[in-house]
Amino acid sequence: MVCPEQLPPSGIRVIIVGAGIGGLACAIECKNKGHNVVVLEKFPKLEILGDIISFGPNAGRIIERWGNGVVADRLRPVTLIHTGSRWKRYDGVDITTMPTYGLKFGSPAYNGHRGEFHEIFFNFATEIGVEIRLGQRVDEYWEEEDKGGVIVNGQRMEADLVVGADGVRSKARKLVLGYEDKPRSSGYAVWRTWFTSEELAKDPLTAWMTKDNTHTGWFGPDVHFLAASLKGGKDISWVCTHEDKADIEESWSFPGKIEDVLKVVGDWDPVVQTLVKKTPPEKLVDWKLVYRDPLPTWISKGGRTCLLGDAAHPFLPTSIQGASQAMEDGVVLAACLHAAGKDRIPLAVRCYERIRYERCRRAQRLGETNRDTWHKADYTKVLEKDRAEGMKLPTPPWLFSHDAETNAYQIFPEVSKNILEGKYGFQEIGYQTGICERKVDPVSRGV
Ligand SMILES: Cc1cc2nc3c(=O)[nH]c(=O)nc-3n(C[C@H](O)[C@H](O)[C@H](O)COP(=O)(O)OP(=O)(O)OC[C@H]3O[C@@H](n4cnc5c(N)ncnc54)[C@H](O)[C@@H]3O)c2cc1C
Repeated sequence: MVCPEQLPPSGIRVIIVGAGIGGLACAIECKNKGHNVVVLEKFPKLEILGDIISFGPNAGRIIERWGNGVVADRLRPVTLIHTGSRWKRYDGVDITTMPTYGLKFGSPAYNGHRGEFHEIFFNFATEIGVEIRLGQRVDEYWEEEDKGGVIVNGQRMEADLVVGADGVRSKARKLVLGYEDKPRSSGYAVWRTWFTSEELAKDPLTAWMTKDNTHTGWFGPDVHFLAASLKGGKDISWVCTHEDKADIEESWSFPGKIEDVLKVVGDWDPVVQTLVKKTPPEKLVDWKLVYRDPLPTWISKGGRTCLLGDAAHPFLPTSIQGASQAMEDGVVLAACLHAAGKDRIPLAVRCYERIRYERCRRAQRLGETNRDTWHKADYTKVLEKDRAEGMKLPTPPWLFSHDAETNAYQIFPEVSKNILEGKYGFQEIGYQTGICERKVDPVSRGV
């Protein structure tokens, strides 16, 4: 399948390490911009991994362009479409409701199973001609003056640019930073699960969730519990974020234990208790939330290697933006390469970092502020009108209305000029944003 928006060949060779959401988005965007792209992924085959993941309207805008809506059409049947979220106190008393975004920000949000979404992106990438090599664990990154490369399975590969989209435990980071940095515990962990709802359908406390798509949150001191029923109520996913000071070293995802969850929410709303007790134990994951201090840079000194997605900036789930920002990275990088051309790769990469860094940082901070709003609320007063309003998720237009591609092309000339004139110091990174005013067709894209 040839993508209608594919541009003529740019001659730019790009190696992307990691076929996660960020790596695939970057690959699709690079292919569409005419770059010659190869993706190296350590997994030997495509697997449906993970559970619930969210793509905000800012990512929805990117998704909708792929294949002129083909990818959006494929996502829609597996997307959580519901009428709104209900927020409750830990004991089940209603706090507030939140409507869905609809097309308020110009494009819909997409929430669903990470593995199912990932499979759709993966298949689309291969259909438009992206070369994805599985079973390729990159052991080393290297860089010379006019090229970058990797060592994979003993073989040396080279390109004009290497993109480390290799996740929260990125190896590319060492070449970029010049030192090893380790993730640290965020002080929180998430129990998370996804399972089919037959057992919940039999229980009067939870049967309502199994009849339609629903989204409900329960909030208490330093804990929150979000549950969704999807695919018309056939599938259930819940996540419970709680304090966890464990020293995580390099391992961060373990099998979870139902009894541990009940130690935290065992006296909450009986609906929550039932959800937990009826969770198949083998489906429960204990996901330690690792964090890293913002990296001083995402690009190597020579500008032939750069970081993207979680490798550059791990997000807390409470930002609800990790995957969306990884996607925006891919869009902006591919556009900067296109705008700069093959002879100016290091400039393109510096522009990519400059355009992305502060916006991403701002989105990252939302993870902390959202979590603190929920976890530090005064639950004796949270039902008061103003306080209940304050529990809603913020929906900032600077975040959701952003059109990463249009913005990147618009500001590239100014950003590149400033870089060339030395107006930016190495660490001084200008914040740029752009709000997209775009005509939408709510009928064809009624998510
Ligand atoms: C298996 C898995 C399950 C996940 N489940 C969820 C979830 O349920 N909900 C959620 O919100 N987020 C989940 N995430 C995280 C989420 O996908 C990311 O936070 C976000 O999408 C940003 O993606 P990324 O591409 O930057 O990183 P990632 O999604 O982490 O992708 C990195 C990719 O790089 C590959 N890789 C790493 N090292 C190498 C190497 N040396 N050589 C070759 N390939 C390498 C990895 O196998 C992986 O495919 C999951 C990630 C993974 C990898």
